[in-house]
Amino acid sequence: MADKIKVTVWNEFRHEKTNDAVKKLYPDGMHMVIGKALKAAGDMDVRYATLDEPEHGLTEKVVNDTDVMLWWGHMAHHEVSDEIVKRVQKKVLEGMGLIVLHSGHFSKIFRTMLGTNCSLKWREMAEKERLWNLEPGHPITEGIGEYIELPNTEMYGERFDIPTPDKLIFVSWFEGGEVFRSGCVWERGHGRIFYFRPGHETYPIFHNKEVQKVLVNAVRWAKPRIMKEDICPNTQPLEKIEPKHVDFGKAGILQSS
Ligand code: ZN
Repeated sequence: MADKIKVTVWNEFRHEKTNDAVKKLYPDGMHMVIGKALKAAGDMDVRYATLDEPEHGLTEKVVNDTDVMLWWGHMAHHEVSDEIVKRVQKKVLEGMGLIVLHSGHFSKIFRTMLGTNCSLKWREMAEKERLWNLEPGHPITEGIGEYIELPNTEMYGERFDIPTPDKLIFVSWFEGGEVFRSGCVWERGHGRIFYFRPGHETYPIFHNKEVQKVLVNAVRWAKPRIMKEDICPNTQPLEKIEPKHVDFGKAGILQSS
């Protein structure tokens, strides 16, 4: 049997401690519900990391032992240390998969990987969302029908300030009229990145079976195919060539001898 995919679910884990409504939905934290769904898939080893642990739970050892990282944050993006962001970024460029969830759109790691503001419109009115599956042949939508319907969600609307995705997987329609690029993939270095919109803390989104299915699929899709540290070497020619000593003269024009 192939080795299991090593997954680290990172959660800010603050709302669950301070907000009763969130505590009720996720008594042990959103990361535990997400992790349970991933474990049930059978081909993943799951560990957890949260903001208030030393090094936010993302020590060199943990990051180096991770194939795919999931990231949920919201109220404390600014408390994530730049050193840890750099560590995660380096690992993504080397080949680690990164799945950014919902309000993680404003996380330091997402904005660092994409290089844009990642801003959007939002509204909290428990409205209906329909995520249209644009790529039924993509590994991330395996087993998902024409759309996923979520009865109560926070609205995210365009314009979402992201670089054009390599592929757009889901587009959302909201009851209030807006649309949003809800499932997007990019490659950065050797790493694969998936942004998935659903997951507001006061709605039971991560208990939804279809949302869980997308996350399982996304982990399988994002697992590294190569893990390669970046180097920038001076290199010898493959063919035998003689070094040329060319004199371009004062005017930058090649002088005939
Ligand atoms: Zn939210």
